[in-house]
Amino acid sequence: MLHNAVKMLKTYFGYESFRSGQEKTIQSVLSGNNTACIMPTGGGKSICYQIPSLLMEGTTLVISPLISLMKDQVDALDQIGIPAAYINSSLSNAEIHERLEHAKDGTYKLLYIAPERLESPQFLTQLKGMKIPFVAVDEAHCISQWGHDFRPSYLYISKLIKELNSRPVVAGLTATATPQVREDICRLLEIDPENTITTGFERENLSFYISKESDKVKYIQEYVRKNKEEAGIIYAATRKEVDQLHARLLKMGIAAAKYHGGLSEKERNEGQEKFLLDDASVMVATNAFGMGIDKSNIRYVIHYQIPKNMESFYQEAGRAGRDGLPSECILLFSAQDIQVQRFLIEQSASTLERLEGEVKKLQQMIDFCHIDGCLQAYILQYFGEVDPPACGRCGNCKDDRDKVEITKSAQMVLSCMIRMGERFGKTLIAQVLAGSKVKKVRDLKFHQLSTFGLMKEKSVKEITELIDFLTSEGVISVTSGAYPVLAVTNKGKEVLLGKVKLFRKESLKIHKIVEDNELF
Ligand code: ADP
Repeated sequence: MLHNAVKMLKTYFGYESFRSGQEKTIQSVLSGNNTACIMPTGGGKSICYQIPSLLMEGTTLVISPLISLMKDQVDALDQIGIPAAYINSSLSNAEIHERLEHAKDGTYKLLYIAPERLESPQFLTQLKGMKIPFVAVDEAHCISQWGHDFRPSYLYISKLIKELNSRPVVAGLTATATPQVREDICRLLEIDPENTITTGFERENLSFYISKESDKVKYIQEYVRKNKEEAGIIYAATRKEVDQLHARLLKMGIAAAKYHGGLSEKERNEGQEKFLLDDASVMVATNAFGMGIDKSNIRYVIHYQIPKNMESFYQEAGRAGRDGLPSECILLFSAQDIQVQRFLIEQSASTLERLEGEVKKLQQMIDFCHIDGCLQAYILQYFGEVDPPACGRCGNCKDDRDKVEITKSAQMVLSCMIRMGERFGKTLIAQVLAGSKVKKVRDLKFHQLSTFGLMKEKSVKEITELIDFLTSEGVISVTSGAYPVLAVTNKGKEVLLGKVKLFRKESLKIHKIVEDNELF
């Protein structure tokens, strides 16, 4: 059976061998098992359903949420001689009717459809007239409320599968592997969790860096100048920032292209083409850019702002180095940007539960920026890997400063929080510890606390950074909502009792002053 699959791989796709995970997924599907396939972006998920479709009798249904990608996928299949079609809202009723008729005749090996179609009972009736041996659910995380891109229409997939005349094999494919999402995919698509195929999420050629440089524009200018010959993407959160950064790079004589939703289709296509053909070395874009882009020689991806969650970050950063050569992924962290993301989340969340979920994801992203352990390992852990080893390549692994004990400073912060009633955000806590004279501190009578000015040798900024670090260590928790409130966790209580010690890579100078200050 697999021998035939290898033959198809060579004949149609021109590849010599399967990549890790592809073979297992294909074998599982061909054995008639519902299967979940979890691979990072660029891992090669498409082949995992395209090849089985060639070996099965009838038309494979591919559910895909990305209308813009369907056409590209179908065109690419056409070019290699695999008959395929798509049905989505970009077509007229007459065209849809025509394609459905062809599908019933068995003209196509693959039929791509948008999930919204499944909401129409008439459409389901049409599908019943087709021979569908296999349903591939692309971007399967969209079925989960816990996923970063929940699509209610994905919930109709199980109805479809039940209603088809003969039960098809189902495969759910995604690059999102958080345990909750996996569980939802398996439960809702009736996949035995044992038939989950996951390839390692580590991208061995990517090096992650967090920069907290205050002048981000200068950082980008210097980085791009130094890497003039290389292709890279810079992601910014807003259209305005894309325009501004793009203009600056052009002024510096850098061949830069741009892409965002505010440009006309023609402008977007032109920018994309320039970048794909190496006429522009840098693409400055919002997250609207990148889906389905298969440019292998991208040497760096810079995030100008913190993205809203790890799923988006890893997917976007993962566009670097598809050719396997060393590439850099840099996130420019600035505390102000968090407010923007919070605002966007509040605007878009449909329910309180979702809001809380999204805020938690953002917090995990913020924590990522403050840890001093391996960045790649943090990502892998986020996606469910247990005890991943340190990568040795990222900014934190390469940071050779010694770790120093900060238990005492942590105790100062925690005891101050408790004295303030655990009802406030980090800026006020830092102001009290720094002995700030701001009105709010006096109004609340916090200048009378024994912890007031306990860290007066440090700036408010340094103390907030310490609080961020303590949060990333799980010593402090942050509530969701417009005004996040900090509280001491159980681990924090152990730190206060001296049962857990904390260490941090920090400059000895700052540390020493703090440690010299007597707390109790
Ligand atoms: P994903 O959907 O997982 O992001 P794709 O299916 O788009 O990834 O595949 C990414 C790239 O890898 C494509 O250019 C594809 O042709 C290529 N690819 C897939 N499988 C193989 C293979 N076995 N050998 C070589 N290249 C492959």
